Amino acid sequence: MSAPDLYPASDAFRQNARVGSREAYDEMYRRSVEDNEGFWAEQADRLDWIEPFDTVKDVSFDADDLHIRWYVGGKLNACYNALDRHVEEGRGDRVAFYFEPDDPKKEERRQITYAEALAETQRMASVLKDLGVQKGDRVTIYMPMIPEAVYAMQACARIGAIFSVIFGGFSPEAIAGRIRDAASDFVITADQGRRGGKTIALKANVDAALKRLGEDSEVRHVLVVRNTGGNVTWDDRDVWYHEATRSASGACPCEPMDAEDPLFILYTSGSTGTPKGVVHTTAGYCVYTSLTHEITFDWREDDVFWCSADVGWITGHSYIAFGPMINGATQVLFEGVPTFPDAGRVWDVVEQYGVTLFYTAPTLIRALMAQGDDFVTRHDRSSLRVLGTVGEPINPEAWRWYHEVVGEGRCPIVDTWWQTETGGHMLTPLPGAIDQKPGAATVPFFGIQPQVLDAEGKVLEGEAEGLLVIADSWPGQARTVYENHERFKNTYFTAYPGTYFTGDGCRRDADGYYWITGRVDDVINVSGHRMGTAEVESALVLHDAVAEAAVVGVPHPIKGQTIYAYVTLAADATPNEDLRAELRQHVRKVIGPIATPEFLQFAIAGLPKTRSGKIMRRILRKVATGEHDSIGDTSTLADPEVVDKLITGRR
Ligand code: ATP
Ligand code: MG
Repeated sequence: MSAPDLYPASDAFRQNARVGSREAYDEMYRRSVEDNEGFWAEQADRLDWIEPFDTVKDVSFDADDLHIRWYVGGKLNACYNALDRHVEEGRGDRVAFYFEPDDPKKEERRQITYAEALAETQRMASVLKDLGVQKGDRVTIYMPMIPEAVYAMQACARIGAIFSVIFGGFSPEAIAGRIRDAASDFVITADQGRRGGKTIALKANVDAALKRLGEDSEVRHVLVVRNTGGNVTWDDRDVWYHEATRSASGACPCEPMDAEDPLFILYTSGSTGTPKGVVHTTAGYCVYTSLTHEITFDWREDDVFWCSADVGWITGHSYIAFGPMINGATQVLFEGVPTFPDAGRVWDVVEQYGVTLFYTAPTLIRALMAQGDDFVTRHDRSSLRVLGTVGEPINPEAWRWYHEVVGEGRCPIVDTWWQTETGGHMLTPLPGAIDQKPGAATVPFFGIQPQVLDAEGKVLEGEAEGLLVIADSWPGQARTVYENHERFKNTYFTAYPGTYFTGDGCRRDADGYYWITGRVDDVINVSGHRMGTAEVESALVLHDAVAEAAVVGVPHPIKGQTIYAYVTLAADATPNEDLRAELRQHVRKVIGPIATPEFLQFAIAGLPKTRSGKIMRRILRKVATGEHDSIGDTSTLADPEVVDKLITGRR
């Protein structure tokens, strides 16, 4: 049986879609590029402004004069746009969040309206002001996935403080590094978090981080939200949130911010090296995230949107805390983990709230796929309209499972390629307009001009494979790396002058669709044949015995490089020599002899992943080449112990 390669949306979907045909997309895209400033000036009407801007775009990608400014001269407030205006315009009763706790048997489900979210945010903003937080101060937020995490982000935006959210699973060491880098003056945390029935010692981790920083710490106060009521140790600088609210005012005005005032700092996942403190500013980020949320997901007022990312990642910033809220969307906010109490939890939540738009990562899709279909099919998923994915290339096999089993063949899949640095979606199918191909991020979003370059920087036309760069700016683009503009310049604007260098490799096919092939650093070159990691991994995942795969290149005296593959197996497969031979043969058959993995290791304990679920191939490369002493920064690994186990099992 051969599966189709092209998946168009149904006629019914197209007829009602915001962008309902390829022609409509082409027309809008052409306009967005040919009259770029006109297009983005119009989109600014999505926001409420305190003062209008006078210049739409003031950008130079030239390394000697690098600057990126949008909506120059305008004044606005991001929190006002995400909360106040909905209430002022009579939408205060709309549900902002259905809060789904880690364990609904023990904790309460909550339904929060926009009016309530605004009141809570104002209260938190008042408390921050009473503690001395001022415009421009950096506030570190280290919170579980509870509504207060969103209030904290919005409260900072309201008073003009620059927030830096750290994922609640990070260690004291990682927290300390980020507090130091951002020179944070304040921390907002909770006593504890909950994940999968376990408690996470958030306050204790902050204490340990500050102890580690010692004299280096500029932190004046730690504001602590009482969440579980668990024990915490206390210091003079600590303030209970529920106590501080007693004397705080219930109202707190919005600070008028310049369009280009920083909104937040966010550290990248650390897949390729030390995380970068990416800085996003106010107006452009708000325009871009709200537009992409609306168009990419074909969002409507009556949709129930669920982005399963943590607010500690850019996905949680752009597609929980800002884009959807600016649009006045109703969302699910999920505190727990997708496999607790069992692997059906995600679909249980979908059924519970009638989720219509669901957005997640390939790592989760692969993990749930390995558990079998029953967990999915026992729940009603008829509410689902659009499914989304982000974070890594999605293997076609996983894509088809997502499409057929989860979405019952009915829901378009939007494979959104973007980065912390891009602020929002860059390449993505629009669900009613672009026929999808499993594994392809397809076409550019409005105003985005991707180019494929060869290693010398020559622009390749038509069908091509090479480096992905973006030729011109867009409003959601990061403006700098915090206090390190040199690193910003060197990382993104130096190697290929005049463009934004993404660090990713891609292929553009005959239909003009873009396929992300992996990180440029991860490209494998066997006897002069360049291969993306994604292609070989997808071939391995195609085999029934394989749950997940990661491949790297290792030096070879004759071929230049040869392929070393790591695989994790499906629940019912046994790792043995026969299977090893079979898998190698399988890749040979699917792609060709050139792609046959010379080494294949069963990664029994799992693959090294970032906390956001991405495979860290730089570590796998070091293990494969035996460079165990120079593994590099592992602070963002979800489970550092897998590295030792991989070293033991090296081929
Ligand atoms: P660091 O920059 O610190 O190494 P990172 O690149 O993993 O970490 P993120 O900004 O979280 O940090 O991830 C962006 C990267 O994720 C992209 O550059 C790309 O490699 C990958 N990615 C995201 N979405 C997709 C997608 N839909 N398809 C393929 N790859 C994707
Ligand atoms: Mg990156």
